[in-house]
Amino acid sequence: MSSAVEVAVIGGGILGVGAAQACAAAGYSCAVIEQADWACGTSSRSSKLIHGGLRYLETKQFSLVRESLCERAILLRIAPHLVRPLAFRIPVYGSTRRGALTLAAGLGLYGVLAGWTPLARYSACLPGRLPKSLRASGLKTEGLKTVFRYWDAQTDDVQLTRAVLRSAQDLGVQAHCPAKLMAAERTDGGYRLELAVDGGTREVRCGYLVNAGGPWVNEVLARFAPEAAPRPIDRVQGSHLVLEPAICDEAFYLESPIDQRAVFVLPWKGMTLLGTTERPFDGDPAQVSVSDGERDYLLATLRHYFPDVQPRIVREFAGVRVLPHGDGRAFQRPRDCVFHLSPGHPHLVSLYGGKLTGYRHTGQDVVAKVVQSLGPRAAKADTETLRLPVVS
Ligand SMILES: Cc1cc2nc3c(=O)[nH]c(=O)nc-3n(C[C@H](O)[C@H](O)[C@H](O)COP(=O)(O)OP(=O)(O)OC[C@H]3O[C@@H](n4cnc5c(N)ncnc54)[C@H](O)[C@@H]3O)c2cc1C
Repeated sequence: MSSAVEVAVIGGGILGVGAAQACAAAGYSCAVIEQADWACGTSSRSSKLIHGGLRYLETKQFSLVRESLCERAILLRIAPHLVRPLAFRIPVYGSTRRGALTLAAGLGLYGVLAGWTPLARYSACLPGRLPKSLRASGLKTEGLKTVFRYWDAQTDDVQLTRAVLRSAQDLGVQAHCPAKLMAAERTDGGYRLELAVDGGTREVRCGYLVNAGGPWVNEVLARFAPEAAPRPIDRVQGSHLVLEPAICDEAFYLESPIDQRAVFVLPWKGMTLLGTTERPFDGDPAQVSVSDGERDYLLATLRHYFPDVQPRIVREFAGVRVLPHGDGRAFQRPRDCVFHLSPGHPHLVSLYGGKLTGYRHTGQDVVAKVVQSLGPRAAKADTETLRLPVVS
């Protein structure tokens, strides 16, 4: 079987379906191709936050934070059934590295970058005035100086990916799954793709190709003829534990006593989601799993702040992040989505890194590349106002 579209997207994670939705909304015929299942990669293994990324202020990624906060506001508008505001608490103790003044300055800046929205507010309360829910959570009060409260938002990453896919299909996107890209051959008018499907093969021709392979991005590039140069990357695994009991209906942003990294304790479907870690990963992303060291690290951090909570691990999962290759800790590296152009392949873009929160904006940036290559089309919809459908 053979078909032809203007734009083909490899990868059915949030960035792939977001790119397909944006291209279809901009008026291009489009196909999205996923090898295993929608959101089976990193897009089902995130912290499930739609956030600006308070911690990225420490590494001065101001434009990323500003852009992510704008996207947060848009997603709260177009998908209120999938993205909900969530209050975060930051407890400050005598021993906390980030003191109250630093945090107040950071939260003030976070609010300014969010603009005049209800979620831009933050407050602080003294230990003697903690609300009942916080006292009931079992948060350690010894040495507690103050507790900040600010706002971000939470989603279900799999449901969000499925809703964006459905929206893309409603705009005419062809969805191929399971269909694995085996080979991509450059032709006069774009690419000829060979897909493995149901024990057979299918051919798709396209004028422009988007590689949204997530942690497999360079494996996808290795399938091109002529050769398409990859970008050097580091892959970093991040793990989460799903725990019983539910600790609180608000979230906690904690400083790990082990290495001072930020660790989240989040309410999650009547339970608690605890994460995340950062550990170099070198292997098949489909096989990534939580290590003993990561489990111990997360539970030790939880125990430090909630000494009386007896957690029971219900489930655990790990995901792989793509970061630009570099020295130093993963925490310090940029988290923007990098658009990579391989020399000799003017009709191909590869997406490296990026965020769940920024999928819609990344999709718009992909459209800008497609317009340069194929010229503009009459738009069908605007993803900034198009409501995401309800999916079951
Ligand atoms: C631990 C962790 C926590 C995170 N938390 C957050 C958060 O709270 N908020 C936030 O905004 N961001 C978060 N992120 C980032 C966010 O999850 C990722 O940026 C995002 O999910 C990446 O999506 P993706 O589509 O690029 O990759 P993926 O979801 O991995 O999708 C890539 C897809 O490509 C497919 N594929 C690969 N090769 C082929 C092939 N040959 N043929 C066909 N298909 C192929 C794969 O099967 C896969 O489904 C987190 C990341 C990690 C690792």
